[in-house]
Amino acid sequence: MHTIANYIDGQLQPPASGEYIDNFEPATGHAYARVPDSDQRDVDEAVRAAANAFPAWSKCTAMERSKHMLRLADLIERDTDDLARAETIDQGKPITLARSFEIPRAAQNLRHFATAILHSESQMHDGDGATLNYTLRSPRGVAGCISPWNLPLYLLTWKIAPALATGNTVVAKPSELTPMTAAMLADLCIEAGFPNGVLNIVHGRGAKAGAAIVAHPDVPTVSFTGGSVTGKEIARVASPMFKRVSLELGGKNANLIFADADLDQAIDSAVQAAFRNQGEICLCGSRLLVERPVYDQVLAGLVERASALRIGDPLDKQTQQGALVSAEHLAKVAGYVEMARELGGVIHCGGGAPQSLPERCTGGYFYQPTVIAGLSHGCPINQEEIFGPVVTVTPFDTEQEAIEIANGTRYGLAAMVWTSDVSRAHRVAAKLAAGVIWINCWMLRDLRTLLGGMKSSGVGREGGHESLHFFTEPKNICVRIGTP
Ligand code: NAD
Repeated sequence: MHTIANYIDGQLQPPASGEYIDNFEPATGHAYARVPDSDQRDVDEAVRAAANAFPAWSKCTAMERSKHMLRLADLIERDTDDLARAETIDQGKPITLARSFEIPRAAQNLRHFATAILHSESQMHDGDGATLNYTLRSPRGVAGCISPWNLPLYLLTWKIAPALATGNTVVAKPSELTPMTAAMLADLCIEAGFPNGVLNIVHGRGAKAGAAIVAHPDVPTVSFTGGSVTGKEIARVASPMFKRVSLELGGKNANLIFADADLDQAIDSAVQAAFRNQGEICLCGSRLLVERPVYDQVLAGLVERASALRIGDPLDKQTQQGALVSAEHLAKVAGYVEMARELGGVIHCGGGAPQSLPERCTGGYFYQPTVIAGLSHGCPINQEEIFGPVVTVTPFDTEQEAIEIANGTRYGLAAMVWTSDVSRAHRVAAKLAAGVIWINCWMLRDLRTLLGGMKSSGVGREGGHESLHFFTEPKNICVRIGTP
């Protein structure tokens, strides 16, 4: 069985405890690797290494930092096939998705921020000839970057890239459920000649290794992506320490389809938004709201296309729906669908394990794409994040009602609007309480634009300038240059 190592101060090393956690392949249910069960001692060592590396890394020119990061991006690109395969085995996602979308995006994340720092600008305020004020931005020190299991390398690089580019050093902790591509990234950092201690990767459980990063007094910046309950705990610990914290949390995103939309496109996109990556994307559209005149047509189209998705071995290139990440998560998703049944919901398709699977996958954590209708807007299925292949469909009669239902959860991450009426598209988008709105599309991401949520979906924004600002400390410098 493969044993994963921590990456600290440029070295691959075992956890101080000598203890490991089993790492399962979701498609088979078999343990296939061992993940370090790191604790405070490993985190202390990693933070020390990062703090020692900080003076030199932060003083490097932007061009030097950029070169290191671009080299790493090239290596990710070179190893795309291996990384995609590893991500698929580790997470359960279809190999085609990992190969075409996620691993390329990891390289893009590095390239985006490695080149952004070569073109950075600063604010200047001219005080009528008497003063000049300018903003100086400096790296903040050691950044803690904690990422979840759904898009492992994609989200890890989304955090470490802006942190490193702006001159911070990093202690990262990937999810203990999906550590493999982070471990491969460590190998690539060594090959790329990354200076020791600039990036450190500590594997292990959230409550132990993750919590030790958040509570560490020498980690002033914490970027976290994960569940809202974990985010709350991180805020509880970090706030009294006056840390700068970015929390990218859960979502219960509404997808609004108006009767005047291009329905064929809207339904296709709704299927993607509901089921891509088995619904395990924070930006998934798990609540489909449909204007009543086209409700039956949209529901029928959604059910037909969802039922046609090919579930199977994630390593098979034909597979469109892979396995859920863990047995525990599968039980959670199945539990919500049972609850939907008890509440009188109508399961139009899915609602259980697939009928047949390849021999290799019979012990895997698979669940059919599931479409549920007939539930009240306020019930738990429509209020809580399920984070699996489950979408609910609800009719609405007016624009105002659609907005109220869309905004009527404690989350506010993303929303989609499908309409051919340009005025309505802008009007509705402005009223939706979500950090990211897509009009007549879903999941088109420009890395220069912000990402983040309102309400329980998070605090702060990442992406583009938001990330560059998050990882730097601004300072206003006022120079008197004349007489007022
Ligand atoms: P999670 O909160 O359980 O874990 C996320 C990470 O935090 C893991 O690395 C985990 O080990 C660590 N962790 C857990 N407890 C911790 C603690 N007390 N202190 C520090 N670290 C801790 O989330 P998950 O189940 O891995 O991921 C799924 C969640 O992530 C969903 O809610 C999803 O919506 C959310 N998510 C949000 C975004 C976004 O951009 N808003 C993106 C992807 C996923």
